[in-house]
Amino acid sequence: MVESDGTGHNAWPYTTVPVNIVGWAVKNRATLQWTDNSVDIYTGILDGGGAPQCAPDCGRFFHQDGDYSRCPGGAARHYDQSLWLTKGFQGGDWGQRVGQEYFTSALGQENIHIYLHEVGHTFGLDDFYDWTPTGQCCFLMKAGSADRITEFDQWMFRDFWRHLKSRYGL
Ligand SMILES: [Zn+2]
Repeated sequence: MVESDGTGHNAWPYTTVPVNIVGWAVKNRATLQWTDNSVDIYTGILDGGGAPQCAPDCGRFFHQDGDYSRCPGGAARHYDQSLWLTKGFQGGDWGQRVGQEYFTSALGQENIHIYLHEVGHTFGLDDFYDWTPTGQCCFLMKAGSADRITEFDQWMFRDFWRHLKSRYGL
């Protein structure tokens, strides 16, 4: 999504999309084998299924109005997305939920394709389990058919943006 050929397409306002890690969530602090606390660490905040999560008061999903006044670190420490590693999890799920074993073993890869597929959903792209667009065979959002972001994925994203940009006065 940061391909240079997408910059400025249809008034797309970004040249890069920086990623900042703003928090870690664990059941027990000892799980994190470091003592540095410069990035917020949330312990013991569990969702309905028992998975650790960062403070909902800081999460965009929970505050789509952009009000982070109850986030302990304020708006500067809010999070827009989360990466949820789950032991034994196969494939991906909404947001970025991927298998822990898969993700950690793929850290050295340039394209962690299941993760990239899930990020595609975050940017609004759909699955293609039951149909394939005419003239296409292989692209990231058709799970299992590509191992990197393809030109067709990029065009789907541009199309999604074409429909959304008016919300931002562009
Ligand atoms: Zn999917």
